[in-house]
Amino acid sequence: MSALFPTYNRLELEIAHGEGTKVTDTNGKTYLDFISGIAVCNLGHRPPSVQKAIEEQLEKVWHVSNLFPVSLQEEVGEQLVTHSCCDAAFFCNSGAEANEAAIKLARKYTGRTKVITFKQSFHGRTFATMSATGQGKIQEGFGPLLQEFVYLPYNDSEALASEINENVAAVMLEVVQGEGGVHAANAEFLQNVQKLCKENGSLFIVDEVQTGIGRTGKPFAYQHYDIEPDVITIAKGLGNGFPVGAMLGKGFLRDTFSVGSHGTTFGGNPLAMAAAKAVLAQIFDEGFLTEVNKKVDYFTEKLAENLQHIEEICEVRGKGFLIGIETSVNQGELLTKLRESGLLALPAGPQVLRLLPPLTVTTEELDEAIEKLEKVFTEMTTTVIQ
Ligand SMILES: *Cc1c(COP(=O)(O)O)cnc(C)c1O
Repeated sequence: MSALFPTYNRLELEIAHGEGTKVTDTNGKTYLDFISGIAVCNLGHRPPSVQKAIEEQLEKVWHVSNLFPVSLQEEVGEQLVTHSCCDAAFFCNSGAEANEAAIKLARKYTGRTKVITFKQSFHGRTFATMSATGQGKIQEGFGPLLQEFVYLPYNDSEALASEINENVAAVMLEVVQGEGGVHAANAEFLQNVQKLCKENGSLFIVDEVQTGIGRTGKPFAYQHYDIEPDVITIAKGLGNGFPVGAMLGKGFLRDTFSVGSHGTTFGGNPLAMAAAKAVLAQIFDEGFLTEVNKKVDYFTEKLAENLQHIEEICEVRGKGFLIGIETSVNQGELLTKLRESGLLALPAGPQVLRLLPPLTVTTEELDEAIEKLEKVFTEMTTTVIQ
């Protein structure tokens, strides 16, 4: 009997080693990792600059309380506000904690409790963020939930216009719904969210836990649209595997999180900040994302070209290197066969294959992945005439 709670249906392979896009299991089999720890290892496994930064910090100090100034927090905060529309950062340890902070901030700032989120959204597993998540299966058995979350259909401006009023603390959404099936927001909808939030004095919170830190080809995914959220939450890619999250907010929210109002023991500790600083130095470098976008264009064109004859592929969608392939084939079988061929990929709902290569993936590795995808899809879809 395992000494662990069985919260995860684990795969049979254990990863023993990782470098760049490649991981090796305990049997010595090598895979192309197009999961990246679920959009965490955006710079691949063990990127040298991040490893070096952590190693150097290990020799100085690991942890100090937030009762002391931590200048690395100031530096990482500065990188984040320089590359976003926000002005201040609060560091924490995970995506759920970042969203938890955002919900607390919205309640305190507005003095209201109601929060609008969207169907098929995913915001985390704590009480507030589970309550914010628009998927019944995540909430089952844990009720009563935190009060006053309303789930509206995504990309539906009319539904939002009829629900929002001066009792709404915030509207919270993912610019591309990751867990919910890789669905991107449309530009007009996001404009309307922003406008309706302004008119009603509600905060506009963008959950960039999966889409942020270069994943979609911009520092933050909201930057593909002409909008400015009041609050941005990030985590996954921020430490490239070192656990760290952050909530970013506009300057007018500063006084709401005054001394003693919110806190954390580990959030923003020197080791996490050393990792985040090195990650952002690379990802926010201008040339880096230009290269990423070239590779994204190359991959999406080649995917379309090489897979267009597969009738069981209904749609290829997403933004940047957050890619969803909607298919009518058996998902479990597809993932197993891809794994056997040496490609690790994820589901996003029952009919969507999700690909999250590291942003540092090479064109050769992209070619290899396409070959494997084409081979497996062809194997699975060739009709046997009896
Ligand atoms: C993964 C994820 C979260 C939760 O992050 P944790 O670090 O697991 O708490 C929240 N929102 C989105 C959009 C995510 O993809």
